[in-house]
Amino acid sequence: MPVFGKGVGRVCAVVAGASAKEMSRQLRMGLKSTPTVELRLDWLKNDAERANFLRWLKEFGSAKATLLATCRRREGGGKFAGDIDGELYWLMQAREAGCEWCDLEMETYRELPEGTLREFPLPHRILLSIHDFECTPKLPRTVSVARHGVVDAVKIAAKAKTIEDSLRLLRVARRSRSFVGVPMGDVGLPARILALREGSELAYAPVEEATAPGQVSLDEMLHLYRAHELTRATKVYGVIGDPIGHSLSPVLHNTGFAVRRINAAYLPFLVNRLGDFLKAIPEFGICGFSVTLPHKQTILKHLKECEPLAAEIGAVNTVVVRRNGSLYGCNTDYVGVLKALQKKHPIKGSRALIFGAGGAARAAAFALARAGAFVGICARREKTARELARAVGGEVIARRALRTERFDAILNATPVGMHPHENISPLSADELQCRIVMDLIYRPERTKLLKIAAQKEIATVSGVEMFLAQGFAQWEIWTGKRAPEAAMRRAVHSALRWRS
Ligand code: NAP
Repeated sequence: MPVFGKGVGRVCAVVAGASAKEMSRQLRMGLKSTPTVELRLDWLKNDAERANFLRWLKEFGSAKATLLATCRRREGGGKFAGDIDGELYWLMQAREAGCEWCDLEMETYRELPEGTLREFPLPHRILLSIHDFECTPKLPRTVSVARHGVVDAVKIAAKAKTIEDSLRLLRVARRSRSFVGVPMGDVGLPARILALREGSELAYAPVEEATAPGQVSLDEMLHLYRAHELTRATKVYGVIGDPIGHSLSPVLHNTGFAVRRINAAYLPFLVNRLGDFLKAIPEFGICGFSVTLPHKQTILKHLKECEPLAAEIGAVNTVVVRRNGSLYGCNTDYVGVLKALQKKHPIKGSRALIFGAGGAARAAAFALARAGAFVGICARREKTARELARAVGGEVIARRALRTERFDAILNATPVGMHPHENISPLSADELQCRIVMDLIYRPERTKLLKIAAQKEIATVSGVEMFLAQGFAQWEIWTGKRAPEAAMRRAVHSALRWRS
């Protein structure tokens, strides 16, 4: 029997505010999405606000909701400055106000004289919680509620420093009953989303402010990742990179899955060491993944097979995990550049200048050269520029020549001007002697470079167009279906507006 309910009720909204007014506002908001809510009484700024909130809660009456009261002391990683008596007092008041559950941290439980816990009129059901904000400690094979006698469920929330840490916690969830597993931190984020699928009774998500590191908002947990609907039959995809928090790929791909009703989820994996992620592929059940900085080149040596063009470019941004576990790599940045640029100008016979000579520049250079363009490379490291120019049959263009030489298209393939450095441009107005400027950067959508170009009445192409095109191609490689482009495009534009 599920301890906290089924379906959406397994996603617990975390309500945490400094005032009673703020807490009640968040509670009403949270209840619109899920009937299970944790009330962080320790976040209220003083006892008067706690009393006000609980008085309001009693009148509010939330019989249909499952309310879990928490008043975590500082020793346990919370904000409550009082002692154990204070904590127990507020939890008892929470029961009076209608809370069926309370979260009692191990630090408090251990201090109570043996066998006395149930003598306190606490909420009827107790979730015994263990937190480690520094690391994932050695874990037992299974967690048994019976061992703690009088509690109803046990929670372990631990910071995952590695992907393996987060998997260790999921394994406990798989083997235990009445257990809540919460991998914390950015590395633990995919496991946090998959925890329900692995048998955790709850996944926490804040209505507003994050109360623990690496939390996903309630809205994202329910609507972007649909954590409560994921099962072992769900196909898992993801993006690997470092950093990865800024990526819009989860919005793009999950929207596609939702629109086409495909049982799949796409998650952001913060991957520092590639080997750690590769080892975890079978256990997560990953079917394919996108690759971004800094792994686009290093992934090559782990592939069983690679599309010849991606091997020539020397970078892979898309990996398919085959049934036998072997990896096949390809490059859709190539398609992305072509599709984005083709809309504005025929490529065959045109003159293009690429500024930069890194991974994206290589994909762009091969794409344009193969499509019949002359390709000039301008980069701050001459040797790299020369190598790339030679590989695609193009030429190195000196920076000073940009003021006089004309091109059909100039492409920025450096990160100069990317969020949060929106106010700088890699090139000046008089270096834009061309008809079209394309910036590969997609955040912000309109970079300083594109604004300068528009002022000179030069046509512009945003990196969003390339991002979308490379993403549609990835999605189609993995699913074998046509991508619902309009819906995916709308979702990305709306996320970009929301984030800027
Ligand atoms: P990368 O491999 O690190 O290459 C970056 C290039 O920019 C290198 O040539 C680097 O030169 C040069 N560079 C960096 N800072 C510079 C500066 N201040 N002045 C002049 N040159 C500078 O990165 P990447 O993967 O090619 O990505 C480049 C950009 O493209 C990023 O903004 C990325 O977000 C974007 N991108 C967009 C898409 C899309 O779908 N829209 C896809 C891929 C990439 P050094 O080698 O000398 O450092």
